[in-house]
Amino acid sequence: MSELTLYRGEVFDFIDSPLNRKDAYRYFPDGALAVRDGEIVDCGPYKEIKGRYADYELVDYSGKLLMPGFIDSHIHYPQAEIIGMYGKQLLDWLDDYTFPAEQAFASPEHADKMARFFIQELFRNGTTTCMAYATVHPASVTALFSVASEYNMCMLTGKVLMDRNAPAGLTDTAGQGESESRSLIETWHGKGRNRYVITPRFAISCSMEQLLAAGRLHGQYPDTYIQTHLSENKDEIDSTLSLCPDCQDYLEVYERAGLVTDRSVFGHCIHLSDSECRRLAEAGSVIAHCPTSNLFLGSGLFDMQQANRLGMQTVLATDVGAGTSFSLLRTMGESYKVQQLNGYPMSVLESLYKCTLGAAKALRLDDEIGCFGKGRKADFIVVDYAATPSLQARMDYLKRNGKWTLENKLFGLQAIGDDRNIQATYIIGTRVK
Ligand SMILES: [Zn+2]
Repeated sequence: MSELTLYRGEVFDFIDSPLNRKDAYRYFPDGALAVRDGEIVDCGPYKEIKGRYADYELVDYSGKLLMPGFIDSHIHYPQAEIIGMYGKQLLDWLDDYTFPAEQAFASPEHADKMARFFIQELFRNGTTTCMAYATVHPASVTALFSVASEYNMCMLTGKVLMDRNAPAGLTDTAGQGESESRSLIETWHGKGRNRYVITPRFAISCSMEQLLAAGRLHGQYPDTYIQTHLSENKDEIDSTLSLCPDCQDYLEVYERAGLVTDRSVFGHCIHLSDSECRRLAEAGSVIAHCPTSNLFLGSGLFDMQQANRLGMQTVLATDVGAGTSFSLLRTMGESYKVQQLNGYPMSVLESLYKCTLGAAKALRLDDEIGCFGKGRKADFIVVDYAATPSLQARMDYLKRNGKWTLENKLFGLQAIGDDRNIQATYIIGTRVK
């Protein structure tokens, strides 16, 4: 039998949504994860786990937090180098920065270089799975799946579909977009840990003919995913409705094309009517809330309480490069602030769930990632609570006052943590950071 490795540390994972029940997580202050052949075989108190196995290698992370890697459900890998660019709102930002940067991905060498940089940034920030937009160029998808495959990481991505309102170098046609997507699905979907995501950018840049083609494609490959943007910005909504004058609201544009499914992830969804929220909830679609991006572009304040009340499935995501950080700890922190402005002091457990097990469930990947259940892939991170002087001082204070509790530990990571707190990142039991 192949070798067993025990990782000792504070072990934490979710077993359910903290919105459903109080004891939705497991926490072993002196715990262990047992990993063999890249899979979790056991998890529990260190003393119990080590008693069950005679022969193992021990990796000691005592005092550090071992938790499932983060899942980022909405991110643009071609925008990694235009993060933090000054100016205006969504539609200007796309014209001024995004479209010029994406044109460079016509070069496979550039795509390969950026895919490597992007995946290193994910690992540095403790993200082990993402659902990413590529560009309109099939080579951009090939590059990202290829580099992800070198690490055997779980990667979801797809070619962006755009047949209007974009520079000539970035447009396809409905027919070309469909045939290029089909060929990428045949090559990559389900190969190793890769999954294909049918990716119409948004209604402004896709004709109804192209959206219908995307919906048909999903019908032919029903276990692929769909990702697009919805109601991020008010000018975007006005533009969409003027391009599709016979639709009652923005969501209807996607509904007509068969794109509102339980495998669809809609980025942003800030300015939705109650009716749109209900229809998304009924369809079982996923809403990716991207707070650093929404604040940066001045798009608006997503209402998490309303989303929860209406039964929408919500996850947290970075939306780099309009998002300003690859770190899901930073993203959780900004999400907390957005909800504070909405009068909802969201618990750290809710935000953490929405970028771990909650995201895995929303993406229907919870039999593979998102928790430490037996047979899950060993995609996990090692988190240092006191990676900065401020966090160290905060920890000392809480310990001195007998308040070094799990929620206080996690809340500190959320409020002021970032990539510096990620000591190690593992993909299928192999250290990649
Ligand atoms: Zn986006």
